[in-house]
Amino acid sequence: MGAPQPGKTTPLASRKSGQPTTIVSVGDVRFGDRKVVLIGGPCAVEDSEQMSRTAAFVAAAGGSMLRGGAWKPRTNPYDFQGLGKAGLEILAEARKASGLPVVTEVLDPRDVELVAESADMLQIGSRSVQNFPLLREVGASGKPVLLKRGMMTTVAEWLSSAEYVLAAGGSDLVFCERGIRTFETSLRNTLDIGSVAVLKEITHLPVIVDPSHAAGDVRYVTALARAAVAAGADGLLVETHFAPNQALSDGAQSLGPAEFAILAESCRAVARAVDRDL
Ligand code: PEP
Ligand code: MN
Repeated sequence: MGAPQPGKTTPLASRKSGQPTTIVSVGDVRFGDRKVVLIGGPCAVEDSEQMSRTAAFVAAAGGSMLRGGAWKPRTNPYDFQGLGKAGLEILAEARKASGLPVVTEVLDPRDVELVAESADMLQIGSRSVQNFPLLREVGASGKPVLLKRGMMTTVAEWLSSAEYVLAAGGSDLVFCERGIRTFETSLRNTLDIGSVAVLKEITHLPVIVDPSHAAGDVRYVTALARAAVAAGADGLLVETHFAPNQALSDGAQSLGPAEFAILAESCRAVARAVDRDL
């Protein structure tokens, strides 16, 4: 037991002795630098108005990147599955109007090329972390990749998934801790803050945290976000909606504009306390 010793099996993802953190650039945004990157946006892209309003309040709070899913991996097949290609077009529009780079999930290896045309960063969701053909395809696309942790994935397995992306030719990869399943059921998932500290040690790649899917409830998102920054996270991926009670998915964990601004402000104070900024 103990911290994984990944050197031999994951040569590309592991940090070599003395190796500095790799800066992953997405447009003007730099993951792994002194500034903690704040990404905000809805769980799912719903329409143009939603995305333009979101881009405005995310930027006003100090966010530097937009998120939003066009394809949603839903547990139930009858739940809203996302707008698909139309969602990508709305994202591209919001990106152009706001100047904020966008990250969006790609679920199907056959869609990688299409998603790569309009997104700045490709998200691999929790449920896809061991979809090896998909990992190879995003690696070969050359686009920056945001690799979520699977809800049942150990740190060592997660690192191996990153190795698939890098071995296929990808070089810009950011890890995203989003909580795992444990015996504890008071929150949607258990945020493994320890994985942030471990990854910062064993990989040279940046690590961010998604407090939204960990908490599952707006009441706890900001506290988890602050803890993430204190633990050394290089960024935060936060679900926001201008009217959370109207959201088509994950409304219960989505912060409204005012709550998002409060999160940014309080995380900025924590960032400064650990010699960073936000
Ligand atoms: C998401 O980011 O909306 C999402 C589906 O997250 P995860 O893959 O972590 O469940
Ligand atoms: Mn979501």
